[in-house]
Amino acid sequence: MTKVAILGAAGRMGGALLRCGQRNDDVSVVAAYDRPDHPDTGKDAGLLAGLDTLGVPLSGDLATLSAADAFIDFSFHAVVPDHAALAAREGKAFVLGTTGLTADEETAVHEAATQVPVVWAPNMSLGVNVLFSLAEQAARILDLDYDIEIVEMHHRHKKDAPSGTALGLAKSVTAGRDQALDDVANYGRVGDTGARPRGEIGIHALRGGDVVGDHTVTFATDGERIELSHRASSRDAFAMGALKAAAWAHGRPAGMYDMKAVLGLA
Ligand code: NAD
Repeated sequence: MTKVAILGAAGRMGGALLRCGQRNDDVSVVAAYDRPDHPDTGKDAGLLAGLDTLGVPLSGDLATLSAADAFIDFSFHAVVPDHAALAAREGKAFVLGTTGLTADEETAVHEAATQVPVVWAPNMSLGVNVLFSLAEQAARILDLDYDIEIVEMHHRHKKDAPSGTALGLAKSVTAGRDQALDDVANYGRVGDTGARPRGEIGIHALRGGDVVGDHTVTFATDGERIELSHRASSRDAFAMGALKAAAWAHGRPAGMYDMKAVLGLA
């Protein structure tokens, strides 16, 4: 049994992690952390997530995390370096789902991975990780006559764009084609763009309603197109993957791992 701490426990993903944690025999939630000024601080985290009493209060005190074997972070990008450094100092496995990190924040995560096992994935669902593999494979097989466009849609509250998953898909197709993403990405095409350059990858973000997460990669050429799509209907898909990652990472050697490794798809 792996003892886990949830960072961002009062958020949408935090709630899903608390609910799925109750159904997962491999983990036990021992700490629920959120920003110190959160209005629900001190309340029972189970009750906040719509469960029975869990006996774990929502806390803004990082010291409560020391009871855990693994941290699961779905919070806010700016605080991820502090959380990663704490995991490294205290020898905790670190499962990172938070997206929208700057280059400096990403460097801090890589530094933590020299000390402890880190599982880092823009999308922790099994289905999306299969989609990453399929998109890379299709891009490898199809030549540059197939124009690749990536479209994602999320709920109106999402703070970053494009989604970490859309960027993950973009990295998958550029890996398949041996391209550098920065050379070929075109984000949210607008204005007098001229004809589409061969080899470009278009990436577009839609926002609205309560959409949990839709992603489609289109390969379009003269006469036909292929569309690979994934639709998440509940955050449970991500939460189950993150809890599985925490149980998998606990006790592994330090290093950077992805969900392909956790799910046995590598
Ligand atoms: P949310 O806004 O509902 O929740 C974020 C939580 O983090 C909030 O409770 C907020 O109070 C808390 N937080 C903010 N600042 C904090 C701080 N300084 N210290 C501790 N906690 C702090 O967002 P969400 O929809 O739950 O998503 C959270 C993150 O997870 C986002 O970056 C999102 O893109 C990402 N996400 C990743 C996956 C995946 O599979 N990797 C899936 C869904 C969401």
